[in-house]
Amino acid sequence: MVVMDLVIKNGTVATASGGAVLDVGVDGGQIVQLGGTMSAKQEIDAEGMFVLPGGVDPHVHLTPPRTGPGLDSWADNFEIGTRAALAGGVTTVGNMSFPRKGEQMSEGLKRDVEDGLNSSLTDFFHHPVLLDPDPEALEEIPELAMAGHPSVKIFLSFKRFDRNVDDFLRAMRVAAQAGSVVLLHCEDAALMGCCGELVREAGLTSHRHYPETRPVVAERIATERAVGFCEISGAATYVVHLSSQAALDVCRSGRARGLPLYVETRPIYLHLERARFDEPDGAKYAGAPPLRQEHDRDALWAGIVDGAVSTVATDHAPWTLEQK
Ligand SMILES: [Zn+2]
Repeated sequence: MVVMDLVIKNGTVATASGGAVLDVGVDGGQIVQLGGTMSAKQEIDAEGMFVLPGGVDPHVHLTPPRTGPGLDSWADNFEIGTRAALAGGVTTVGNMSFPRKGEQMSEGLKRDVEDGLNSSLTDFFHHPVLLDPDPEALEEIPELAMAGHPSVKIFLSFKRFDRNVDDFLRAMRVAAQAGSVVLLHCEDAALMGCCGELVREAGLTSHRHYPETRPVVAERIATERAVGFCEISGAATYVVHLSSQAALDVCRSGRARGLPLYVETRPIYLHLERARFDEPDGAKYAGAPPLRQEHDRDALWAGIVDGAVSTVATDHAPWTLEQK
């Protein structure tokens, strides 16, 4: 009998067809046998535990969008972030790659690919962020798809979106033709701007009122637009970090009509609720969108069960409490 490097024994192994108690044989860094008799130099007893494939976290932020004096920078980087990913069983991450001022997406990607190759402890891929949908950027979308970056991220939450909405829609049509997935951050910039003003005018500047600056209606309206953009452009559309029942209902009806629409949510929306903001250091829960209500959380779990939610991703974006 061949003596392998490692056998993981007695665990419940998740395979494409279900789960079963099987031994897993590893040799030369690869799984070479599932089940049956095997012997190895090292054995790990996994009785009572699950043995899972490496996870994919398709939405993280490990490369800063801006750097320089006086600008915010992330609290960690590719190395620290992927170390944490591995500790949680995640072996592939999808990072958002922001072009810096004056850069095209390909230039930002070049830098971020380099960063990943130098520092990442996991496999990785990048989603280029489309900030300025000028003709040159639109030309890049199919080129990037051919080069192994078949996705593009657009923020409806940035004021520049409404200033250039025609061009962003053109970009989605280009993405559809290129076979690229369009990732959309669905919060309406104008509504959030208005809510921010209202909260400030009322003197409600504590972190407790943060959720009021990014209400469900801003997410629902932006998600409705996203579904319309998906329908008209034909682009495979992936709604990132969906947080509310109302927005999920919008996507559910789009999916029922057969649109190529996918929904991501985050663990924080599945496990935490808005009441966290009442804690003294509640600012640490700040995210975009903010934590929602119990019925939203329940709706997301139901969405995972019935398939309305396609993926769970961390959207890990590392800020310090002070920055938040
Ligand atoms: Zn994100």
